[in-house]
Amino acid sequence: MIRDIISNEEVKEFLKNELKFEKTSGTYLFYGSDMGLLLEFALDFAKGLCCETLDGDFCGECDICKKIDKLIYSDLEILDNPDGLKVDEIRELAYKSSASAYEGDKKVFIIKNISKMKKEASNALLKLIEEPNRGCFFILLNSNLNILPTIKSRSILVKIKRRTAEELGVDDFTYSFFRGESEDIKNFKALNLSLGTGYSFLEIGKAVKAYDENRDLKDKINIYKALRDFINNKNYLKIHEKIYFAEEIVKATSDRNIYREIVSYFVELLGDTNGLEKRLTMKGMLRFPINMKVFFINLFLEL
Ligand SMILES: [Zn+2]
Repeated sequence: MIRDIISNEEVKEFLKNELKFEKTSGTYLFYGSDMGLLLEFALDFAKGLCCETLDGDFCGECDICKKIDKLIYSDLEILDNPDGLKVDEIRELAYKSSASAYEGDKKVFIIKNISKMKKEASNALLKLIEEPNRGCFFILLNSNLNILPTIKSRSILVKIKRRTAEELGVDDFTYSFFRGESEDIKNFKALNLSLGTGYSFLEIGKAVKAYDENRDLKDKINIYKALRDFINNKNYLKIHEKIYFAEEIVKATSDRNIYREIVSYFVELLGDTNGLEKRLTMKGMLRFPINMKVFFINLFLEL
């Protein structure tokens, strides 16, 4: 049930109220920096919309609720393109939303990374949410409110704050190690991993390659540790060691999402030490098809 969700009390109240109205369609924009938590709230809200056992809430026990938990409910779809949905994907979505629901009388579409969509795709989405088909709900997820104003004005805005260390049941170090990302922290606790052992920056390539292959949290932890080790040693590093660090990363993967994660962790970890503005400008450049080896060398040589 909604009351059992931990954190964001006012959001829970708001969602419970929304469910009371028994709307026949709607568009919501859930925004906040913890994408895992946004998805968790979106799925719980989807359960609230679709569950037929409890009115204005979800039971968590029925077939529909269980299927949504396992992401196998056929009237729920999560659309996730890290570079933002393309216009073809929106057209396909429009087609799907016009067909009738399979299992219930509602369809829910959760769409991630709204701000990354290009203009044409954003306009196609706008059309769709302006005249939604009966029974269709769109839950848009984005880390900030930096999206097409017309989409924003057609959506019900719901701000979702990160969970605190206390709400997640971890100490401050673990919390900041994972930057408060609830999904990572939950997996970390479930897997009973430890942050105690060190990991040398010289082995960054090994960790990145392993993470690229199987997306294991333990490899992500090693990447984070290697980055922390690199920064801890920053005053002693030679130029060739910084270049080596950059080369190892680029050799290990060509996945731009992993590059993005590394840059964002690195920038956050350094915080406002000298050169923050330049690092933020560089981070913004990741949207463009730049040469990543040159990028990382520049980023690390600045240190
Ligand atoms: Zn249920």
